[in-house]
Amino acid sequence: MIYKRSSELFAAAKKVIPGGVNSPVRAFSAVGGEPIFIKEAKGAYLYDEDGNKYIDYINSWGPLILGHAYEPVVDAVVEKAKKGTSFGTPTQLETTIAELAVSMVPNIDKIRMVNSGTEATMSAVRLARGFKGRDKIIKFAGCYHGHSDSFLIQAGSGAVTFGTPNSPGVTNGTAKDTLLATYNDLENVKEVLEANKGEVACIILEPVAGNMGCIPPKKGFLEGLRQLCDQHDVLLIFDEVMTGFRLAKGGAQEVYGVNADIVCFGKVIGGGLPVGAFAARNEIMDYLAPTGPVYQAGTLSGNPLAMAAGLAMLQELNKDAEIYNRLEEKTAYLHKGLVNVLNRNKVAHSINRQGSMISVHFGEEPVTNFASAARSAGNGKFKKFFHGLLEHGVYIAPSAFETWFITDALSYEDLDATIEAVHQVSKEL
Ligand code: PMP
Repeated sequence: MIYKRSSELFAAAKKVIPGGVNSPVRAFSAVGGEPIFIKEAKGAYLYDEDGNKYIDYINSWGPLILGHAYEPVVDAVVEKAKKGTSFGTPTQLETTIAELAVSMVPNIDKIRMVNSGTEATMSAVRLARGFKGRDKIIKFAGCYHGHSDSFLIQAGSGAVTFGTPNSPGVTNGTAKDTLLATYNDLENVKEVLEANKGEVACIILEPVAGNMGCIPPKKGFLEGLRQLCDQHDVLLIFDEVMTGFRLAKGGAQEVYGVNADIVCFGKVIGGGLPVGAFAARNEIMDYLAPTGPVYQAGTLSGNPLAMAAGLAMLQELNKDAEIYNRLEEKTAYLHKGLVNVLNRNKVAHSINRQGSMISVHFGEEPVTNFASAARSAGNGKFKKFFHGLLEHGVYIAPSAFETWFITDALSYEDLDATIEAVHQVSKEL
């Protein structure tokens, strides 16, 4: 493929935007080469500035579960925009989307809208700390919760010791309150809790991890965390920014039958516009300003365009009883096809999948936590795989630590074309 125009645009971007991008992973840093500039998208396809077409498995990193430029969402935004883009006052639309979200998701009474997943998790943790009157939080190595200071803590440190900042600018004071644990390892969580008795406000996790590739929870892991949280009087926060409205209408809480105390949303809930949200039962949510003492706010929170997009998206997901079955079937079909061609070409792999989240790791070893994900990413195969697929018109996320997002816009012909591309590329791996 020819990327001449993308290359020119990247050169221009680098002069005025740090690294030429507004979010680092877009720069292809992990896979080498230059990023591709996208001009437009429709359904399952992306079209770049040079006129190349790709089957898209990123889908804006998760929001576009029904495909690009999905008409009901686009129409809702266009209609809303004509009536004003922001008022900074309450609107009926905010109540309508809140009512719908609360009706779709188990175990929540109230929801507060923000503008990104980062804001959702940051606010949820502040609320948990305020509600419990404690400072420490437990997060898991390899789970990503956005870029607020408490979460940018290096993976892999001893779990019981204090975390150390992994980004300059995160203070040691902040880092010491973030305790690290190992995903899918209940014993480890128990040790961390016992070493910090009475000091931990909450445990936060991705109930299905999507930021070290896709890593589903082992049987009993989420149930065990719920029990540990109850025993230690600690709040359990599910970061469902990826999984919310994707794994099921009610997200991971519904799929696994485990209740969280606070649930964070992003991505799908905004239909492709900048939206995040956090939700909980009344007792916790009423602890938030203006009813309670924990402060949280936003000039553009509940923005009419964003709410119109989000509402249109949730309405579509709520009315079509078959959509999650279709997504499951398409992803299972892809999974089977990938296993087939990788085996045929004798490429050692381990594929993880939950619902419409799937990822390919290169190695025999099962990938169950950050350490095993990092080992499988270490052999350099992913780079070749990524660039090979791109040449064949298949666009997956440019990092081994990401998930493929399946959309309902993908046809079985698209899936077959993808499997064939993987077949061709895996001959060279
Ligand atoms: N939590 C999870 C699980 C995520 O995957 C992400 C983003 N990929 C975030 C939080 C942060 O969301 P945002 O990029 O919208 O700030």
